[in-house]
Amino acid sequence: MDMLLLNFTRYYHDYSVLWGNLTPEEQALCMHPMHYEALRHRIPYMFQCVCDSNGRPKSYRKYNVSAIGFAYNSTLEKYGTFLGVNIKPIENMRTTCAEAVVMGSALAAGYDVIIAIMVAGVPQEGDEREVLYPCDNCLLTLQVISEVPEDAYYISWNPSNNLMRMMSIGEILKANGYAKDR
Ligand SMILES: [Zn+2]
Repeated sequence: MDMLLLNFTRYYHDYSVLWGNLTPEEQALCMHPMHYEALRHRIPYMFQCVCDSNGRPKSYRKYNVSAIGFAYNSTLEKYGTFLGVNIKPIENMRTTCAEAVVMGSALAAGYDVIIAIMVAGVPQEGDEREVLYPCDNCLLTLQVISEVPEDAYYISWNPSNNLMRMMSIGEILKANGYAKDR
């Protein structure tokens, strides 16, 4: 399963070139062609959604993260998108991450393959990384739930510098010391 370790860690300043920059080999290997094709057509819509919802999270310190998931319901044989924002209205409470809202919503609607999660947000002060990454709790969730395959995408966009990074879930888990059970 070496295909899952393909390097998708390139940075893009313009989402419209994101898919065009993959080599044909990467395109062929990165995920089920049907899902890939469906996702490719949905990317502009997803990007618009996370842009529109980026001011809507409930964060006491204005740490705003919005997310959209693209998922497949294999019973109904249809695709769907699911929005989420982070929720932490006061300081002394647990954070509900935008990714968790997205995953829960997709699962609740019976979608059993999460193909991609796109997030929009600015890294917190002191975090020198260019884009947002999943927190430890989200990494663990991505690792253990079977509805998220290793070749799903995590697409992260930082509105402050307009950088977007696309990674496979397998890659991001591996980079953070997590690995999916086979
Ligand atoms: Zn999280």
